[in-house]
Amino acid sequence: MKYWGFLAAKLAVGSGVLFGIWLGLYSWYPFPGYYASRPQDAFLHDLPWTTLMFVFNLLCNAVLVFIILDQRYRCRSCGRRLRMPIRSGSHAYVIFRPPRTDYICIYGHGTLKVPELQITGREKPDWKKNNDNMWKELFSLPGKRTDDD
Ligand SMILES: [Zn+2]
Repeated sequence: MKYWGFLAAKLAVGSGVLFGIWLGLYSWYPFPGYYASRPQDAFLHDLPWTTLMFVFNLLCNAVLVFIILDQRYRCRSCGRRLRMPIRSGSHAYVIFRPPRTDYICIYGHGTLKVPELQITGREKPDWKKNNDNMWKELFSLPGKRTDDD
């Protein structure tokens, strides 16, 4: 739930900031006198305003892409950034062991397996939730250190 809430929060903040920028541009730009009554008609009729709106559109798309790319590498449970990328496989073994990168949530919620090779079309990253605490095995090893050492 935090995952989708964090995405919604990022989208809300991003759209709020972009709306503020758009309001700033709209109030700052000196529209010619014949657009004073209806400034929205300047789009596609006034070249500087049209260019500015196209650049603003690129900015909006860049913010959206950044939000989506950031969201892809977040834990589906807690929303934190996934860490510790481990590469496995090889380009030499495309059929049996294709290259991929695994990311984990440092709090043990799950693992994201991202394929590096897209042969048969776009492959989605595979999120696998850990049902058991992944750090339990590490702490159960003999000879573990305690705070008394
Ligand atoms: Zn997590």
